[in-house]
This record gives sequence, structure tokens and C-alpha cells, in this order.
Amino acid sequence: MDTIAESIQKKAYELGYEKCGIIPINLIDEYADKFNERMEKIPKSKMFYKSQERLIKPKEIYPWAKSVVVLTSVYGKYKVPQELNGHIAKAYLFDTRVDKNTKEYQNNRALEEYMQELGLKVETNQKFGVVGMRWAALQAGVGIIRRNNFLYTESGSWVHLEAWVTDRKMELKETNNVKKCPKSCNRCIMSCPTKSLSEPYTMSPTECVSFLTTFGGRNLPEEPLRKKFGDCIYGCDICQDACPMNKGKWKDEEEFPGLAELAPSLTPENILNMDEDFYREKVQPKFFYLSPEDLWKWKIDALCYIGNNYSESYKPLLVNACNNANNKISEMANLICSELSLQ
Ligand code: SF4
Ligand code: SF4
Repeated sequence: MDTIAESIQKKAYELGYEKCGIIPINLIDEYADKFNERMEKIPKSKMFYKSQERLIKPKEIYPWAKSVVVLTSVYGKYKVPQELNGHIAKAYLFDTRVDKNTKEYQNNRALEEYMQELGLKVETNQKFGVVGMRWAALQAGVGIIRRNNFLYTESGSWVHLEAWVTDRKMELKETNNVKKCPKSCNRCIMSCPTKSLSEPYTMSPTECVSFLTTFGGRNLPEEPLRKKFGDCIYGCDICQDACPMNKGKWKDEEEFPGLAELAPSLTPENILNMDEDFYREKVQPKFFYLSPEDLWKWKIDALCYIGNNYSESYKPLLVNACNNANNKISEMANLICSELSLQ
């Protein structure tokens, strides 16, 4: 007869998860040291890390927790809409954390229900996690963490992580045969446009394009790094795309629910012309790092892209944005016009 841990792992595979490892909660204690080391190494990141501190305290927050179940699901199987490729980070395009139409969201709910049926008390946080998930996945043998800080399985870094704490003492490690980074490789570091990733396993989160184009970067006109965003509008995959260990790992086989219909609305032109109702109904629920009041931020990100990739066809849009009723949008548009000597 299977142990409870084996039953959970079996169910996870049946549902389509790629990996499922289970570790005693004590195995994530060391994460607090790593977390603090990172904060000390990049002092300007302190504010950011402070906001994440709950991830090093699962034992305080869930005093009943005895083990962690950590899983991966592969998103590198989905078709990337051509007009969004390189502009919106793939983890956000194929975000399954809140999208009830996706199989992965439904699997997350089904697995939780299954664990409860087995008599376990469990807790997860689908949006932001209950533990440091990459660290937990490493401890559970799910994969390895590479120099660009991403967790890799045999599917590359194109995997979503999910985790639960449970009240049952269990251990069932996964196996992987993922090779370490080649000794002399530093392609991810060299590729990082803002030098946020400055050394192996070392990054400054508040200088990362992914942060500055999503929940951070609230004052991009004053942010000199915006000129380094290149093709990125929302999020950044550059240090993952540059990684030889991701070569050939993207499969581009399946349609992601609703994405083909939404994609044409997320070009820079259409973001700038987007109205509040459409944003609130169709865009914000998927890209939830920005609030229902934050359409202005998407428009600033689109303006930033236009500033970095200007062509004459953007001129009417830019001029129009200079007169936008929202001060933040008009300020950014005017600044770009002046930087491009259009006024
Ligand atoms: S996501 Fe982009 S900006 Fe952030 S560390 Fe990687 S390459 Fe640098
Ligand atoms: S680019 Fe090279 S050093 Fe960076 S994560 Fe990939 S293999 Fe490792």
C-alpha cells in the first residue's frame, strides 16, 4: 500500500504535474540564511526583501506545518503569440495562478482537495507562495537553481512552481538529472540589460526589468534604467532566453486558453489606445501584479517601449499621449518626445 506521500505524488503525476517532491519543513530553514545573505550583499534590495520576509517564516506563520509539498508544471509547451514574443514575459503570458480556465489552476485545486481528503491540513498561497519555492524545490530534488537564480528541471526554466505546507510529517524526494551550469558560462549575466544580475546567484531585484515594468517602476520618467528595457514591455525573459540550458526546451505546441484572442490587444499601439473597461475586464485579472487602477502603468511601459524602439509610425500615438488627461502618461510622452527631438 502506498504511503500518504506516495499517494500525493502519484495523484500529482496523474493530474499532469511534471515533478512532485515532499520534504520535512526543517529542510527549508537554511533559506533564511540565504535570504539574509542576499539582502546584505545588495543593501539597496533591503526594502524589497523585507516585503518578502514572510517566506522565511513559514514555521511562525503555520506553527502546525511539518512538511512541504513542492511541484512543477511546465509552461514551455504553449504557443507564444508572435506579436508578444520578447515583449511580455512568458511566465506572465502563461500565468496559471488565478486563471480558472486553465488546466493548471484546476489541478492546483484538485490536488489540494485530494490532500484534504487524505486527512491533511494544508495551506497554499497560489499568487505569492507560502515558502521560498525555488529553495524548497532544490531541497526536494525537483531541479537545480542556476546562476541566473531560476529553478531548472529537465524542461529548462520554463516551469511554474507550486507549494503547500502540510501538518503531516513526510519525506519523498524527487529525482532529476539536470546538469550543473558549465564552469565558464556567464551568458545570463552578460545578457542582463540593466546589470541587475551582476554575479552568479546575485541580483538586485529593484533594478530588474521584470520588477520595473510590473509592480515596481512607479516613476519611470525619473528612472535612468528605462532606456535599457529594449523590447520589454511587461516583464523580462532575457537571462532565461540567453541560457544555453534552455536551448530547445520551448515546445510551442499547445494553445493557452484565451491568449490568442487577447494578444492583439497587447501591442504597444493597442495598450496606448486601451480603455479602462477593457483593461479591468480582460487584462487586469490575468496580469494581476498591476491593480484595476493601474492601466496608466501599462501605458507608461508601452511609451517606454516606443521611446526605445521609435519609428515614425508611432509619432501620432506619442503626440496624442502628450495630451493625455493622466499626468503621468502625458509627462512620460512629453519626455520621450523631447528626448527624440520631436517637439
Ligand atoms: S529578468 Fe531581465 S533584467 Fe531581470 S535579471 Fe534577468 S535579464 Fe536582468
Ligand atoms: S546562462 Fe550559463 S551560467 Fe547562466 S544560468 Fe544558463 S548555463 Fe548557467
